[in-house]
Amino acid sequence: MSSKVQILFKNIHKEDSHTYKVARDGGGYKQAEKALTMSTEDVIDEVKRAGIRGRGGAGFPAGLKWSFIPKDNSRAKYLVCNADEGEPGTCKDRDIIRYAPHLLIEGMIIAAFAVGAERGYIYIRGEFVREAEILEQAIKEAKENGFLGEKINGSDVKFELAIHRGAGAYVCGEETGLLESLEGKKGQPRVKPPFPANIGLWGGPTVINNVETLAAVPSIIENGGEWYSKLGVEKSSGTKLFSISGHVNKPGNYEVELGIPMKTLIEEYAGGVKGGWENLKGVIPGGASSAILPKDVCETITMDYDAIAKAGSMLGSGAMIVLDNSVCIVKAIERLSRFYRHESCGQCTPCREGTGWLSQIMTRIEAGKGVEDDIDLLLSIGNNISGKTICALGDAAVGPVSGSIKAFRDEYIYHVEHGRCMVG
Ligand code: SF4
Repeated sequence: MSSKVQILFKNIHKEDSHTYKVARDGGGYKQAEKALTMSTEDVIDEVKRAGIRGRGGAGFPAGLKWSFIPKDNSRAKYLVCNADEGEPGTCKDRDIIRYAPHLLIEGMIIAAFAVGAERGYIYIRGEFVREAEILEQAIKEAKENGFLGEKINGSDVKFELAIHRGAGAYVCGEETGLLESLEGKKGQPRVKPPFPANIGLWGGPTVINNVETLAAVPSIIENGGEWYSKLGVEKSSGTKLFSISGHVNKPGNYEVELGIPMKTLIEEYAGGVKGGWENLKGVIPGGASSAILPKDVCETITMDYDAIAKAGSMLGSGAMIVLDNSVCIVKAIERLSRFYRHESCGQCTPCREGTGWLSQIMTRIEAGKGVEDDIDLLLSIGNNISGKTICALGDAAVGPVSGSIKAFRDEYIYHVEHGRCMVG
């Protein structure tokens, strides 16, 4: 791996980096100009060659997703940017929008051209009020300068872009829940198939990509897919934004190549664990829905899709929540369980009922009223939720509970036996 390559954050330290002028002076929209001179197939091939995987959490290859869009133009096609960013611990897309909105818009122009979409939407989390205002202004500037609307940059390409503000439901970060919400309905995920690439927004073929994925596209067009594929490690190419929070000295968003050792990321970028590395208890590596990894795993693990999956967790959105030895694991997971119970949309029984049971049992154990069988009961309920629901929220609710029991069963047993937390 080469070091310190910045793709997403390369211009964010400039004053007024969110403005069209600063973006343009820094090379903004040059790659959109270049892409419009290429064939749509070549643009998609370049993104495929890059190997970039969706940065929203699922990790599906972006170029492959684009290639699923039907080539015929009998139906209107859509490009949707997922800026819902609801996974607890994640705050990276917000920074891209705040400091580099034109990079996102440029990536969307290229993506829309590649798949033949003439209309796009940015579905932004409702709480991001300032960020939505920044985007509104950036869209206005892009339009005034001929990069949105009819005849982009003098070509025959048309692309209209609008913002849609969400109303605060976690499940609207799930792509089909998002589409329902965008259509003005209750944000409840759809049964798949059909997938959005065929039947998406208003029944048209639709590509949905995360902010970070789209913002990386201009660099891929500029330097080529092969260049991008050499960043990071095999099957996890490119740079990634990691949102590091919790017990570290310098919490924040850091852009690094995938495959970096977790310990290096925490110690050298995030200022180290509070109280020193020896004070580390574990790390939730990819947002609240990913299973916690204990310290011994954190010692050697690398931050890439395959390594984290092999360790029984997931890279997810790249939101790392660092927990030191002062944390009561049961209490921390009990809080997360309440969150998932609250966010279940209620469509499928295993999720609607199961998240409630998980939360109730976690609360009972935490309150000192648990019994030994509760621990295996939690695992059994989890088994009856995982893979049996319409969307991934069911699995997301199970991950923190089953992962923490696997890594910290002794804390659960202590809680049950003593009626209180192990850490005092
Ligand atoms: Fe709704 Fe949960 Fe089913 Fe997803 S898994 S559709 S959130 S009930």
